[in-house]
Amino acid sequence: MSKSAAAFEQAQRYLSGGVNSPVRSFQSIGGTPPFIQRGAGAYLKDIDGRRYLDFCLSWGVHILGHNPPAVVRAVRRTLADGLSFGAPTELETRLAKLIISAIPSLEKIRFVNSGTEAAMSALKLARYYTGRRKIVMLEGGYHGHAEYSEVLRAPFNDRTALEKIFARHKNKIAALIVEPVPANMGVVLPEAGYLAFLRELTAAAKTVLIFDEVITGFRLGWGGAQNYFGVVPDLTCLGKIIGGGLPAAAYGGKRELMSLVAPEGPVYQAGTLSGNPLAMSAGLAVLQELQKPQTYQALQKNTEYFFTELAKHLPPDVRLNHLGAMFTLFFTKTKVRDYRGAQTSDVKKFARFYHKLLRSGIYFSPAQFEADFISARHTPADLKRTLTAILAAV
Ligand code: PMP
Repeated sequence: MSKSAAAFEQAQRYLSGGVNSPVRSFQSIGGTPPFIQRGAGAYLKDIDGRRYLDFCLSWGVHILGHNPPAVVRAVRRTLADGLSFGAPTELETRLAKLIISAIPSLEKIRFVNSGTEAAMSALKLARYYTGRRKIVMLEGGYHGHAEYSEVLRAPFNDRTALEKIFARHKNKIAALIVEPVPANMGVVLPEAGYLAFLRELTAAAKTVLIFDEVITGFRLGWGGAQNYFGVVPDLTCLGKIIGGGLPAAAYGGKRELMSLVAPEGPVYQAGTLSGNPLAMSAGLAVLQELQKPQTYQALQKNTEYFFTELAKHLPPDVRLNHLGAMFTLFFTKTKVRDYRGAQTSDVKKFARFYHKLLRSGIYFSPAQFEADFISARHTPADLKRTLTAILAAV
C-alpha cells in the first residue's frame, strides 16, 4: 500500500470523508488522492516521493507557482512580528489600495477569509441596499457553500430565460450574482455581449450586479474579467490569488454600497481573522509580482502556444474551453456553452483520462466540472510534455 493510501485511510477515520473540502477526495474519479508533502514552482511532491506537474495549483490560487521566493520572504518578515492581532495593521490598507488600483469598479473593499464569505457578505449587502430578498444565480455557477433562500436560476448564456425571470419577479430581485467566466462547471465562456446584457438588465431592474471573481480576479489579467470584457459590476468578490495561498478573500464596490457595511453602516459583517497579517503580506507580494507587465506577458505567451497546439490536435469528441491561463477539457462532441452542455461530458472517460495523466506525473484538478490552471512557473518544456501526455491519453 502506498503511503498516500495509508494516509487516506487514517484521514477517513478522523475527518469527514477524509478531507476538508469534498473534491480533494477523488470521489468523482475514483482512486485515492496523493497526499502532498511540498510544492515548488510548477511541481508538487507527494509523501511517496512522486512528483507531479501541477495544473490545479490549489484551485487557481498559485498563479506564480508554489512558494514563490518573494512571497515566502514577505510572509517570513511578517511572521517575525506575530500571527494575528485582531487590530488594524497597515498591511490591510496597502493590499486594499493595490487591489483598488487594479480594478476600477472598486472604491472600497472589505477583507474576509474565504470566497464563501465574500459572496455571502456581498449578497447580504445587496439585500439590505435594495430592500429586496430574491437572488438570481446562473446554473453551474458556484458562490460558496452558504445556504440561500429565494434563489432563482437561469442557464448561463441564455438571455431569454433571464428576461422572463426579471419580468416575473419585477422589483423583487436584490442581486444577480455571476461568475463572469464560469469555472465551476468547467470553464465556460460568456458569449459576445452576454455580460453587457447582464449589466443592462440589472441596471434597468435596479438589481445589484455582483461579479464573483474569486477565480477570474487577477487571473484574466490585472483587472480581472470585468476589465477584460469591459463590463462594470456593482459589487465584486475576490479570493484565491489575493491571499497568495493563505486564507483571504474580499468583497467591494462603489462607496455608496460599501458605506452601508458596519461600522460605517448597519449591515453587520465581521471576522476574527479577517485581514490577517500573514495573508495580507502574501497577497501583497503576489500582486506586486503581477504588477510587473512581464508576468502576465510571459504567462500569455506560454499558454497561447499550449492552447493552439491542443486545439489543433484534439479529437472531435474532446472539447477544449479556455481563457487566459485556465481551461477545461470536456469529453463530448457538444460545444459547451452552459451547464447542460457541460453535463454531456462522459465522466467515465474523464476519470480514465485523469488517472492516465496522473500516472505520467501530471496533476489536473481532480474532477470533470472544474478548471485547470497554468502558472508563471510552467515552462514551455513543461507545457510541451503535458501536450504530449494529453494527446496520448485521449
Ligand atoms: N466563488 C467562486 C467563483 C469560487 O470558485 C469559489 C471556490 N472555488 C468560491 C466562490 C468559494 O470560495 P472558498 O472556497 O474560498 O470559500
